[in-house]
Amino acid sequence: MKKPKIVILGAGYGGLMTTVRLQKQVGVNEADIVLVNKNDYHYETTWLHEASAGTLHHDRVRYDIRDVIDRSKVDFIQDTVVEIKKDEKKVILENGEVDYDYLVISLGGEPETFGIQGLKEYAFGITNVNSSRQLREHIEYQFATYNMEAEKNDTRLTIVVGGAGFTGIEFLGELTNRIPELCREYDIDPHKVKIVCVEAAPTVLPGFDPELVKYAVSQLERKGVEFLIGTAIKECTPEGIFVAKGDEEPYEIKAGTVVWAAGVRGNAIIEKSGFEAMRGRVKVTPELRVPGYEDVFVIGDSSLVINEEINRPYPPTAQISMQQGENVAKNLAKLIRNNQDLEPFEFDNKGTVCSLGENDAIGVVFGKKLTGAKASFMKKVIDNRSLFMIGGTGLLLKKGKFKVF
Ligand SMILES: Cc1cc2nc3c(=O)[nH]c(=O)nc-3n(C[C@H](O)[C@H](O)[C@H](O)COP(=O)(O)OP(=O)(O)OC[C@H]3O[C@@H](n4cnc5c(N)ncnc54)[C@H](O)[C@@H]3O)c2cc1C
Repeated sequence: MKKPKIVILGAGYGGLMTTVRLQKQVGVNEADIVLVNKNDYHYETTWLHEASAGTLHHDRVRYDIRDVIDRSKVDFIQDTVVEIKKDEKKVILENGEVDYDYLVISLGGEPETFGIQGLKEYAFGITNVNSSRQLREHIEYQFATYNMEAEKNDTRLTIVVGGAGFTGIEFLGELTNRIPELCREYDIDPHKVKIVCVEAAPTVLPGFDPELVKYAVSQLERKGVEFLIGTAIKECTPEGIFVAKGDEEPYEIKAGTVVWAAGVRGNAIIEKSGFEAMRGRVKVTPELRVPGYEDVFVIGDSSLVINEEINRPYPPTAQISMQQGENVAKNLAKLIRNNQDLEPFEFDNKGTVCSLGENDAIGVVFGKKLTGAKASFMKKVIDNRSLFMIGGTGLLLKKGKFKVF
């Protein structure tokens, strides 16, 4: 009898978790497992703010996919997904195609620019290893160029961060640690450097505990960040941004670097392949399947799961992606054994920790509020846990964060 073929698209948190769980739960004779990813490495998306600021080398945030998969059970294809032909049960890749019996889409998300003019062209993103490396190099280039110019252009040393959500705040935490080093390295007066964070919402870190938000803001302000809250970016240009508060007239902030860190939408492949989606995210069934396509699962940033308690979607996180991966692996193991009694996905929120740089953070873990070194320690525990869950002790020892204080 022909073995069922399970194809997993994307080797991020959700996709790799699905793969490593499946390879444990399914025998070689039970199913063919194929993993497709555009790079031969996995990157820790949740560490990209560090690589982007230059506080952690980009090689520390990635590892070889082949080191964590069981190659006797999983066929790894390094290629880029172009489109999913869901009615033909086929995935079109840049260099070929692959058919499937069951498909797991875990291609991650993309920055949501809300149609703001110029952002796609002129702002930097914190989305993958390439974009992080480019951002780090760009900031360094601005510092290196400053002292080469006869007529000093101080706006080279202005960095604007659009968005005071999780990614924006974590990046600011790292950046404010990196700037003193850069100033020393390039003989620049630290007073010349300006860091501005622009947020359209009425608060920093919307949804976070207000007491913790206050702590985060005061720590970052102390390190030189200027917050413009309730202020929207109207346009991004090669020279900086135009912002406005409410209906007020937009004004310009000249900046050598603009980083866009607000908003995530699903991977463009979702809409291109004709799946019904909200901002590129598929509202999945309780078993994480696409309504009407029982053989297709969507997990991670491209999926949309409603938190019934508040009737709003759960924010896209690594935590939920990994839990979805575990759930899908369990259900796929059932399906290939003709057991249709699938387990619905239930998110178990273990808490959230937002880093404010190497030794500082805020968070709520198992219902307890934490700040400072304790929260920062928990952040490292969380980072290490995800390595352990995917690659066991070997990966943890190779890539883990053990510098505690
Ligand atoms: C700076 C930053 C900090 C964050 N901090 C936290 C945190 O502390 N806690 C938390 O829970 N969440 C955090 N998040 C959010 C979290 O990183 C994402 O929600 C998570 O990475 C989503 O996982 P995923 O499996 O959907 O996709 P990803 O982990 O992004 O993986 C997607 C994979 O698909 C591959 N891929 C994409 N397109 C294609 C294609 N066309 N063909 C082939 N392969 C493709 C990519 O290369 C990648 O390997 C953070 C995000 C950022 C940017």
